[in-house]
Amino acid sequence: MKKKIVLLGATGSIGTSALEVINEHKDKFEIVLASAHSQFKKLIKIGREFQIPNLALTNSNIPKGKSVVAENFIRGNADTLQFLDEIDYDIMLNAIVGSAGLVYTVKGLKSEKTVALANKESLVMSGELINYIIKNNDSKLIPVDSEHSAILQCLMGTARSTEIRRIILTASGGAFRDWKKEDFPKITLADTLVHPTWDMGNKITVDSATMANKGLEVIEAHYLFQLPYDKIETVIHPQSIIHSLVEFIDGSLLSQLSYPDMKIPIQLALSYPQRLPATADFTDVQTLSALTFTPVDYEKYPMLEMAYEVGRTGGSMPTVFNAANEAAVDLFLHEKISFTEIPKIVEKLIQTENIKQPDLKTILATDKKIKKKVYTDYS
Ligand code: NDP
Ligand code: MG
Repeated sequence: MKKKIVLLGATGSIGTSALEVINEHKDKFEIVLASAHSQFKKLIKIGREFQIPNLALTNSNIPKGKSVVAENFIRGNADTLQFLDEIDYDIMLNAIVGSAGLVYTVKGLKSEKTVALANKESLVMSGELINYIIKNNDSKLIPVDSEHSAILQCLMGTARSTEIRRIILTASGGAFRDWKKEDFPKITLADTLVHPTWDMGNKITVDSATMANKGLEVIEAHYLFQLPYDKIETVIHPQSIIHSLVEFIDGSLLSQLSYPDMKIPIQLALSYPQRLPATADFTDVQTLSALTFTPVDYEKYPMLEMAYEVGRTGGSMPTVFNAANEAAVDLFLHEKISFTEIPKIVEKLIQTENIKQPDLKTILATDKKIKKKVYTDYS
């Protein structure tokens, strides 16, 4: 029996890698629904190539195109969410970028499906609620993020979390790893969009450059592995070969290694707990001449420190952090603000009042309110 996959964000970087994995394992997986936000033509092409019966374009403002080949063509978030109740599927791969992914993660988990999660923003915004849903439903959350996939793999066979001393998330250091802080005011958009080791969508590439991405991943790890923040550390590892480490109480460190290629964690999330033959290239260890580590300079990367702070505060604060960052990054991508303004904006916004144990409605309202404030004040 093939596993039925819902692929959200099929036109993006993760979506494209997921399609390569699924294409390699056509006997194991079939896509029953694929979504895009605006790239109508690309979605149609994917639909045709993979013979996908249901296609969804979540941005309802895009004009309707011709020659739709799918049995069902859905438009807008509300109709897509409703349609998910009407179809049979096993795994939702959520590769939507940003807070727009949250309602889908919640939908998949409430429907007792397995959610393979690339959309880290949903766990950052709503980790407590998501863990509550998982506890009370027969649903599973499997990380796609490479660091979290590495930790999951290192923990296979570990029965007790009390045996974990700490986890260490590795970070490439992003585009400005070798820049001095004094030179940051000179940073341009073009400088930022060149990532040293990973080829990714624009938002996460900027997040890597500010290290907000590692901050989001610290919060993601806190909820996924239910560990306190003082057991979650980060280190700069420029080669992106060691995807994270777990240290156990007996002093053993385990890690997972491979060339940086998202097809590995995507494939594992779809086949978990089994492993399938590789879609990605095998790693030639003879080529790995040096694997190096340096501590993170928090002064250079204030977003990472802020992420720990909002994570520890909890409540609606991680949502505020995420929303402010998302809006600020969007303004930077449209060249409305400079690179160094991103952390300044986020720092200002996280002074907002915290709401404890927010429900989904409050989280979504907070996200909207914070983004509106950033766009109004800085556009
Ligand atoms: P991309 O920007 O490449 O792709 C984003 C996808 O989401 C596209 O299919 C896009 O559709 C769709 N999308 C955009 N906005 C919306 C919206 N408002 N509602 C619904 N769908 C939307 O992003 P990535 O693939 O790089 O990242 C996706 C997620 O995975 C992010 O959360 C990121 O942090 C995470 N991730 C990514 C990694 C990577 O290597 N790229 C690694 C680890 C995690 P359209 O193309 O039509 O605009
Ligand atoms: Mg990652």
